[in-house]
Amino acid sequence: MSRPHRSADRVAHRELSGPWVLDVRALSRQPGHLRRVSLDVEAPDDLGTEIITATAGSTVHLDLRLETVAEGIVATGTVSAEFAGECVRCLAPLALTETADFQELYVYPESDAEDDEAFRLSGDDLDLEPAVRDALVLDLPFQPLCRPDCPGLCVECGFPFAEDPGHHHDDAVDPRWAALQVLAGEEQARTGESETRDRPTR
Ligand SMILES: [Zn+2]
Ligand SMILES: [Zn+2]
Repeated sequence: MSRPHRSADRVAHRELSGPWVLDVRALSRQPGHLRRVSLDVEAPDDLGTEIITATAGSTVHLDLRLETVAEGIVATGTVSAEFAGECVRCLAPLALTETADFQELYVYPESDAEDDEAFRLSGDDLDLEPAVRDALVLDLPFQPLCRPDCPGLCVECGFPFAEDPGHHHDDAVDPRWAALQVLAGEEQARTGESETRDRPTR
């Protein structure tokens, strides 16, 4: 059996399946019909951005109202999911629940609408996944913070200022070298060498 030709594909209405697909057969094609849909779908691993992704094993919750219009079906409501990532300032792990408004038109298969203007029903199947992904990802913070006033990390040693706002360095010496400096000082004391000799030139 060869795969159906692309144009035949549209007539045959490839049957969709999976947790994101709604069968809308029960909705009359008369405009003005309503149906409420509440759906929980396991969050896909790759839902999110490079910085923040859906929490493994969590659920995407959809609360939608489907309404028939002349061209197709309008889905309106909210979608929410849990995400995990890192604070961009202090790199601490963070978790957040994102709730996004959702509104999409799904046109009937035979609609003249251009494919870049609206999603298209495949027969009686409505695949929610692409639009739900878009709604959630577009709503994610571009630069997530563990808290709005996260003070970040010390540029010299990487110490998180949140743990001690008074953290500072007395001079320009990296504290990782401070122990060595103490040793060097002891060595100088023993040999009686001038202190200035080992000082870095400026
Ligand atoms: Zn932070
Ligand atoms: Zn520091």
